[in-house]
Amino acid sequence: MTMLLDTFWLELDNFAKLWQYVCTTYPYGLVESIVGTVVLTIGFVVPATMYLVMDQFPSFAKARKIQPWEKQPTPEKTRQAIIYSLLNYFYTCATVFGYHWLLGWRTSTYRFEPELPTPLGFVTEFACGIALREVIFYYIHRLLHHKWFFWIHQKHHEFNTPIGFAAIYCHPIEMLVQNGLPIALPLAICRGHFITQMLFATYAVWDATAAHSGYTFGRLPTPELHDLHHEKPLQHYGVVGFMDTLHGTDRSPMRPSRLK
Ligand SMILES: [Zn+2]
Ligand SMILES: [Zn+2]
Repeated sequence: MTMLLDTFWLELDNFAKLWQYVCTTYPYGLVESIVGTVVLTIGFVVPATMYLVMDQFPSFAKARKIQPWEKQPTPEKTRQAIIYSLLNYFYTCATVFGYHWLLGWRTSTYRFEPELPTPLGFVTEFACGIALREVIFYYIHRLLHHKWFFWIHQKHHEFNTPIGFAAIYCHPIEMLVQNGLPIALPLAICRGHFITQMLFATYAVWDATAAHSGYTFGRLPTPELHDLHHEKPLQHYGVVGFMDTLHGTDRSPMRPSRLK
């Protein structure tokens, strides 16, 4: 245990030195663009691929899938989700690079300091990120279900039985407004530390992938809530769930018995 703690402090010290070097050597906009691409890769591409590999083992998957095996997407629909979501992945990375290129790579949306955030600062900013993400995501999502805007959101709802790759299977406008803003804005609003933002974004992107995985495990609250939104829209618009409780959209007569 002591050896494990020693290793942890040593690695943290090495990371602090590396961060100090990066922060004082490279333009903020370039760092934000490159690390942002890494975040999207670790949070989305890697877990979505892992869920897809699990799907190839029916005896494992059947016992752990939320919806019946017969309702799972066809191989053609799955292929469509992979291609479209990877296009969205490249388009999002290109947008971030393009944004910082236009600003001359000089500015960052977050707080760049050579020191790592303090433990208290990290926890406070992370918690603020989770709370604000829920509020922003909830209202944008509800707006996208309005008849005036549903033409943007309907592509995402082609999947009544989602899979990991369906997390960013959506219209390009939705990709930036519904998926991007609730993750990028919270710590931009409270001018959070860049390191906190990158860890928060990795968690949030992974969380969205797990929520669409179709599996019963791997996320808190249960992935069944967003899965249910895909199966029966008009309920469970949020991520964590407290905005649904506030607005009464966590209840519905259509609610399946498995969630009662
Ligand atoms: Zn929706
Ligand atoms: Zn969804």
